[in-house]
Formats: sequence, C-alpha cells, structure tokens
Amino acid sequence: MRPGYIGRFAPSPTGPLHAGSLVAALASWLDARAQGGRWLVRIEDVDQPRCPKGADALVLAQLERCGLVPDEAPVWQSQRGALYAQALAQLQASGWAYACACSRADIQQALAAQHALPGRHAELVYPGTCRNGLGGKPGRAWRLLSTADREARQDLTLAWTDRRLGPQTQNLSRAVGDFVLKRADGLWAYQLAVVVDDAAQGISDVVRGQDLADNTPRQLRLQELLGLPRPRYLHTPLVLGENGEKLSKQNGAAALNLDDPAAALRAAALHLGLQLTGSTVGEVLAEGVEAWLARM
Ligand code: GLU
Repeated sequence: MRPGYIGRFAPSPTGPLHAGSLVAALASWLDARAQGGRWLVRIEDVDQPRCPKGADALVLAQLERCGLVPDEAPVWQSQRGALYAQALAQLQASGWAYACACSRADIQQALAAQHALPGRHAELVYPGTCRNGLGGKPGRAWRLLSTADREARQDLTLAWTDRRLGPQTQNLSRAVGDFVLKRADGLWAYQLAVVVDDAAQGISDVVRGQDLADNTPRQLRLQELLGLPRPRYLHTPLVLGENGEKLSKQNGAAALNLDDPAAALRAAALHLGLQLTGSTVGEVLAEGVEAWLARM
C-alpha cells in the first residue's frame, strides 16, 4: 500500500491498441492496484492529424474488454490547450523558453555545416541557431533552453532512479538539446503536455514503455522549471516485432486480437515476467495483482 498513489495509462490514439501498448496498460494498472492506488486514463491526442476519428473510443473499448477500467472519467489532451499555454507562458516569463524560426531544412543545413548530422534513426540535436534571437525572421516554434543556466549555458545532466532500470543519467544539452514545446504548426509538444497533465492529475507513479525512458530527463527538467513535483518512474520491457524493432502502429503492428481477452492479458503479463493461468479476465487480473505484489 502506498498512500496517495495515482497511476495512469496515457495512450496516443493513432490507432487501436497493439500488443506493446497492452503491456504498458496492464503494468500501470497492476502497479496501481498492487499499491492500493487509483488508476487513470488520459487520451494523448495533441497530435490531432495523426489521430484517426474514433480511435480514442476504440482504445477505451479495448481496455474495458480487458477489464482495465479507469477510476475517473478519462481526459483528452486536445481539450486542455489552456493549461499548456499557461505553462508555456511561465517558461517564457522566466526566460527558459525561446522562439525559433528554423525549418527542419535550416536545422539540417546548420548541423551539416558543423559536421554534426546524426546517424540514421538518431534525433536532430538543435544547433541553437535562434538562442540569441531570430535575426528578423518570424518565430515558428517555441523551444526550451536545455542548459544548466541561462548565461554561461553550461551542460545540464539529469539523474533519476527508474524502478526497473535503476540509476539513469542523461546530458540533456548534448543528447537532446533545446527541444520543442510548441510546434511550428501550432500543436503542443508531447513533452510539455505530459508534464502539465501528470502534475494536474496528481500522478505519483508513471509506468510506461521503455521507449520513453530517454524522454524522462526532458520531463524532469520541465517539472523543475515549472515548480512541479517529480513522480516515480518505471519503464516496462518493450515488445519487439519479428524484425527486432519496436512494435508500433507506424511499423504496422497488428491490432490486438481481443476475441479472448484473458489470453491477451496472459500474453501481456508473460512479457512482464508474470506467468498467469486464469481463464477469465477477472481471474487473470486478480492473479496478476498477487504476482506483481510478490515481485515488488
Ligand atoms: N502517449 C504516449 C504514447 O502513447 C505515452 C505517454 C506516457 O506514457 O508518458 O507513446
């Protein structure tokens, strides 16, 4: 039992749940139940163009079929822009957020000139072109200064202890650089929205897939600068496709087959290292909570 425990599952409804997202959903639910806490669902649909109509309802129905029912009505990020605008205004006022006029091509060109283009699949680390002003160009996006201070601009390294991965560190300034808070197309960035919402919903424990572990330092930094509490983090093992790549809707991961939801839950649990035998959803979930508790 952990008093004040509030957990959440925060799917981006870019399509139906897949095997990987069920693992994250189940892990966050088991952890909340094992600790006598509450479990919330937040629909992360800030990137509206990537969210087909109806996918949110489908995801919620899939969760329900698996017995994963939130303790409060879900919230939709697409309706929470005012909260994100407030947070951005706070970062603008404190001088940590700055306007950026660069297009992707500008950024690539600047990096190429510095012989700093990343390898395949690596992220572009923003070269800082607009840190000292826009040179008369119109601002397109808002970025966060990723350094330890605003004057000398020393590197900033963040450290945290993941409940599964153990001690972690990241040099935010070098590994990520000045990241986007509000995109040039006007959409809110995941990093800002997730931090604002985790705090607004009182989330004490974030349990999610390991592909997001390297996003955590960005979120820790935003929490520090916005004066928000830091939740505990647990990143669950990724489900890899046959090609060894992370399963995602983008690489065509098959939608979850929920003809037999108990079987789907057993498969997700096995991925978390829990060997369950129940034949109904209720049995598998109850057994899962016991097994999760025993392991903690
Ligand atoms: N919406 C994110 C995703 O589906 C997860 C966010 C989170 O759990 O922090 O990848």
